[in-house]
Amino acid sequence: MTESIYILLGSNKGDRLSNLERAIQQISLHVGIINQKSSIYETAAWGKTDQSAFLNSVIRIKSKLLPEALLDKLLEIERSIGRLRTERWGPREIDLDILFFGDLVIKSEHLQVPHPAIQNRRFTLIPLAEIAPNFVHPMLQKNCLQLLNECTDTLEVTKFL
Ligand code: AMP
Repeated sequence: MTESIYILLGSNKGDRLSNLERAIQQISLHVGIINQKSSIYETAAWGKTDQSAFLNSVIRIKSKLLPEALLDKLLEIERSIGRLRTERWGPREIDLDILFFGDLVIKSEHLQVPHPAIQNRRFTLIPLAEIAPNFVHPMLQKNCLQLLNECTDTLEVTKFL
């Protein structure tokens, strides 16, 4: 059982709140126990700005699944909630990213953990630092609050719920 698995949820298409809720429900059914949930934040779309704003949230779970199996389950949940993988950075009903898997460092063809963009994005760091300010990034050796304070991203992130 791995504790301290952090997952970022995002949605900018359809009923965004209900997409997040459905994903959390599917994760608790098929992946593991949800120990913590951040507030939900709204952010203008990153990378591609001509699309609707995202809702984002971070959860901490524990699971028996190995990292690759966890990724497969999350992709299955994304598909079940309706996301068609078409345009890169296009609108999406639900996006699920593994941020941290405990202290593991993984770099395979399909999976990179810690997620390589954590430190660059306020929409990730704000919900992450809310629930895990002291969790130390196993490669950067800084905690999430430090990463947030040092982040130069300027996209506005506002509390939604
Ligand atoms: P995206 O279009 O950004 O949702 O990218 C999804 C793909 O990124 C997945 O099919 C994974 O193979 C790959 N990927 C690599 N690292 C991660 C990670 N830490 N969490 C989720 N997906 C990842």
